[in-house]
Amino acid sequence: MSDQPADLVDGPLAEIVVDLAAIRNNVRVLRGLVGVPLIAVVKADGYGHGMVEAAHAAREGGAEWIAVATVDEALRLRAAGYGGPLLCWLMLPGTNLERPVAEGIDVTAYTGAELDAIAAAAEAAGRRARVQLKVDTGLNRGGAPRATWADLFARAREGERDGSWKVTGLWSHFACSDEPAHPANDRQEQAFRAAVALAEDGGLRPELLHLANSAGAVLRPSSRFDAVRCGISIYGLDPAPGSTPDLGLVPAMTVRTRLGLVKDLVPGDGVSYGHRWVADRPTTVGLVPLGYGDGVPRHAFRPGGPGNPDNTAEVAVGGKRRPIRGSVCMDQFMVDLGGDPAAAGDEVVLFGAGPDVPTAQDWAEACGTISYEIVTRIGGRMTRTYVDSEERRS
Ligand SMILES: *Cc1c(COP(=O)(O)O)cnc(C)c1O
Repeated sequence: MSDQPADLVDGPLAEIVVDLAAIRNNVRVLRGLVGVPLIAVVKADGYGHGMVEAAHAAREGGAEWIAVATVDEALRLRAAGYGGPLLCWLMLPGTNLERPVAEGIDVTAYTGAELDAIAAAAEAAGRRARVQLKVDTGLNRGGAPRATWADLFARAREGERDGSWKVTGLWSHFACSDEPAHPANDRQEQAFRAAVALAEDGGLRPELLHLANSAGAVLRPSSRFDAVRCGISIYGLDPAPGSTPDLGLVPAMTVRTRLGLVKDLVPGDGVSYGHRWVADRPTTVGLVPLGYGDGVPRHAFRPGGPGNPDNTAEVAVGGKRRPIRGSVCMDQFMVDLGGDPAAAGDEVVLFGAGPDVPTAQDWAEACGTISYEIVTRIGGRMTRTYVDSEERRS
């Protein structure tokens, strides 16, 4: 979704509309609930909402910190003018660390080798680095495994003494916080407390201890420590479907387009590649000019078997939910209009906010995935536009 070239004849066929007021509202609600600083996570282009715009709206809503995954993302935020507290956590051997150190970005270390690289970068930048240490408390993804904590903390203390860096934070990440009763949550929180104690025994005094993502922040007050890292919830999507109380979060993203064509079918007509859906009654279908080339999952239509209904996502046309019929193609898919009056040019909403519109969570359930993937992958040829529903009201 780079800038559109100026010589486009007609522009994109669909748009992603992001309501910045929704992000501000969600951050305000979450910040009020947790009562500790909020680190707004805007990695992966702000979960598809636009990294820079999402960061700005989150700051306006009261987020004290911004976080991204990669060093490049952090540098792009700095280049866009964001000068505040900023954390990143994903790098490879050889990642250039001099620039993030020079620009006052908090970098995360999992290993002594990474600390050595940060020391060299601090030396080259002529500036004391800001380092956060990440411990693995059971996710078994990034972070220092428990057996290495003592050595990592010792090396971190050494670098503080010799002026290479200040250890600004110590943190970890949950595996199962969207299942609040999962025993891994207690185990991870206990392990994190043990890491904090060990770090303090080793002479470290990190200012910012943080463990919780959105689901932890909302559902597990004991995991809030000095800050929470909220991603999916700031975009108004449910971090723990089935467990989250109604907080008044508002989905920030709406995806909309128009019908390209409406046609009649008779019983026995198969629709789209492979004829994986066959009409069993007369109906009308409408063409939606979006497909997996735009991040619409092909999984949004899967035929059922004998006695089993099809798995299908729905879109809103004319105020009604309309199921997908047949395979989602690269550029288009068909929806069932059930014979209702409809014409080429009518508005189609794939998902968004509001009572008559499917949510990204509805799409996730239909596709057998999570809402994170739906909003982060959508895009392709679409354009993204920003609205501010608060500004319109005032
Ligand atoms: C993506 C991410 C988050 C945000 O998680 P949500 O569930 O979207 O709130 C927090 N911390 C880390 C390390 C992450 O990778």
